[in-house]
Amino acid sequence: MTESGLLIVGSSQAGVQLAVSLRALGYQRPITLLGDENHRPYQRPALSKEFLQGAITKESLIFRSPEYWAEHCIDVVKNERIVRIDKNADGSGIAYARSGNEFPFSTLALAVGARARRLNIPGADLPGVLHLRNADDALELKARMPAITNAVVIGGGFIGIEAAASMNKMHKNVTLIEAGPQLIGRAVGPETAEHLLDQHRAAGIEVLLGAQVTRILGAGDTVSGVEVDGRVIEADLVLIGVGVLPNTELAEGIGLEVNNGIVVDRYAVASDGTTLAVGDVANLPNPTPGAPEGSRVRFESVNNAVEQAKVAAYAVTGYQEDYAGIPWFWSNQGEMKLQIAGLSTGFDKTVVRSDPEKGKFTVLYYRSGRIISADCVNAPLDFMAVKAALAQHANIPADAAAEPTVPLKSVTSQPQQEALP
Ligand code: NAP
Repeated sequence: MTESGLLIVGSSQAGVQLAVSLRALGYQRPITLLGDENHRPYQRPALSKEFLQGAITKESLIFRSPEYWAEHCIDVVKNERIVRIDKNADGSGIAYARSGNEFPFSTLALAVGARARRLNIPGADLPGVLHLRNADDALELKARMPAITNAVVIGGGFIGIEAAASMNKMHKNVTLIEAGPQLIGRAVGPETAEHLLDQHRAAGIEVLLGAQVTRILGAGDTVSGVEVDGRVIEADLVLIGVGVLPNTELAEGIGLEVNNGIVVDRYAVASDGTTLAVGDVANLPNPTPGAPEGSRVRFESVNNAVEQAKVAAYAVTGYQEDYAGIPWFWSNQGEMKLQIAGLSTGFDKTVVRSDPEKGKFTVLYYRSGRIISADCVNAPLDFMAVKAALAQHANIPADAAAEPTVPLKSVTSQPQQEALP
């Protein structure tokens, strides 16, 4: 019988990083990186942007060459969907695939991510109603583009806005429908949302806020319109981006604690003490400096997938390494590059730095006089200054930060030893 090693279920950003980090740490046991898609492991961020717009090929999204995987003895398995796992107390077990194949392991890591939430309204299953989560979704959306005149996007979060901006760039008539009172309500404050709204409207996207979609209408075998607040918007394509649901079923099946994701400790270890969970599916102790004691988060970001997978790699090799750096996010939307450093949850004051001539717009978020986060649009130096200040427990006093021509780096105070409030 061959030696079993680490089985990573989910060849996602986090899954790939875990495998790569383990080999970099000298882990010598077999590694199987298994995914249910019929593609080699690939990066998702460009799917709603450069890939959709035709600026890059599918090949350029691939993470590593076949030679890399072979040289590092990482067995990459495509097109296998794990449907059940048997697990022993020592962490070993067998994962069963829908195909009938079995994958024994000595250690299990779940990097199974999240799936697009569906809308439960009439017409949501019509052909021409799409979601955008994986490469197949993106390939279908892209293939439909040449025949599309009017696109309706439901959901004004990251995926909806990025895809709407891409389709607008591709000269489609785009309507973006958001149920909440502002764009990206989960991630940015009202001032940033207002700025993004103005820019997207100026670029030609029709944006509806606080709008309720009640029905998607079809003509023949395709979509013809979207009923929203009693009127019908013409559409030959509808893209739904109303959030994701973590894929926790396998974890539940082996009795792991699940609460908005798989509950893990700061070293990415689940409640059984042996299984690892990384990436979008993991609910972890909030690693943001100054986060309220005991608070937890489930991040949906590349940065977290990478950092948390590195922590998990140490855990597999028997070391405890803390999560490095500050949570950060980015989103390219048409001509705008939004970068977010830290989490703004619980802010009590904002400072806006706006330079319309240069297209720069930054919102700094404060709690009890200390900087906790920033949204930076086309302002990479502001982003880097805030990220560095947060990492060093330094402050950027609000009164010194208001003048947009003053570099934030130059007004950053000395690092503090005490924890943030
Ligand atoms: P999301 O960021 O959670 O945004 C979903 C949006 O849809 C929210 O603004 C939500 O409003 C709105 N919504 C919910 N129900 C609606 C309805 N019935 N009608 C209209 N709007 C509705 O999720 P997403 O945009 O679907 O993105 C999916 C995932 O991909 C997330 O994990 C996201 O972080 C990730 N992603 C990230 C990036 C990036 O980091 N650049 C880019 C693309 C995708 P409420 O908040 O009011 O419910």
